[in-house]
Amino acid sequence: FIIPEFQEFSKDIELIYWKCKENTNGTVRDFSAIYNKYVASYIPQLKRMNPNYWGVSIVTIDGQRYSIGDVNIPFTIQSCSKPLSYGIALDLLGNDVVHQYVGQEPSGRNFNELILDHNKKPHNPMINAGAIIICSLLKTMYSPEMSSAEKFDFTMNFFERLAGREDIGFNNAVFLSERECADRNYALGFYMREHKCFPENSKFRECMDFYFQCCSLEVNCDLVAVMAATLANGGICPLSEEKVLKPESVRDVLSLMHSCGMYDYSGQFAFKVGLPAKSGVSGAMLVVVPNVMGMCLYSPALDSLGNSCRGVQFCEELVDKFNFHRYDNL
Ligand code: GLN
Repeated sequence: FIIPEFQEFSKDIELIYWKCKENTNGTVRDFSAIYNKYVASYIPQLKRMNPNYWGVSIVTIDGQRYSIGDVNIPFTIQSCSKPLSYGIALDLLGNDVVHQYVGQEPSGRNFNELILDHNKKPHNPMINAGAIIICSLLKTMYSPEMSSAEKFDFTMNFFERLAGREDIGFNNAVFLSERECADRNYALGFYMREHKCFPENSKFRECMDFYFQCCSLEVNCDLVAVMAATLANGGICPLSEEKVLKPESVRDVLSLMHSCGMYDYSGQFAFKVGLPAKSGVSGAMLVVVPNVMGMCLYSPALDSLGNSCRGVQFCEELVDKFNFHRYDNL
């Protein structure tokens, strides 16, 4: 086993879990007040999320599992889809093609900032601009003859294989809200269209819709942990043993998660925690300990940068206790 004393390990994880549970940052304690002040609030469906949910799921690369807390509550995957669709695009189109359209540099700005790099490309695939372009590549450059419905099914199937063939849902209310409340994403899209960022022949509305659909996939903590474990295992799902992504695609995904996955906290997170991770506005964090395990941390209370308060604390406590930081001396 990759983690021989798994029982012991799980007990330590449980202690960290309870410690983080006490962290009520990001939430307003008085429930009679508007308790959603610090959960994502740009669409009503996310505003209603209970900030007290807290779940941790772990899946090792040899299939040992540990879960505690709210690990079966459905939530939309949001930005945690970005590394996954990036990985799929790399696998299908190759690194050369993908990086003609999107860079590899942290933007140093908010995830939805109206900004492109010096070459007038999105900075990286982990921010909205980059993820919209990745979706347009998947939509337009790989099997362009597929209809929107077919492309959605095809991509959803990829996500399900990453999760060990678990069923993934789709939250239509969130999708409709995302599309309705998407002024910034449309602004980004138009700005990028002006600068010819999209591949030739792409249909703007369809690409935007595809991006909103990817954000609106419905998952839970246990399921995302399996996806993280597939990334930890070089693209082979530890539960189904299916080879879903090529190892070279996974390497690129992890590199950019490491430098760009935690919004404008990415630099500090890479310094303090030293693990590739991606957070989303629904409060999920997909965290990878390469060649060891995948984790999902889920708690909707967000800090001012948009990362899950408990999720970030958990990672910091984790590397305090175990030598998982990439630059720990083993
Ligand atoms: N749906 C969100 C958006 O496009 C996803 C962003 C996120 O999770 N950070 O604004």
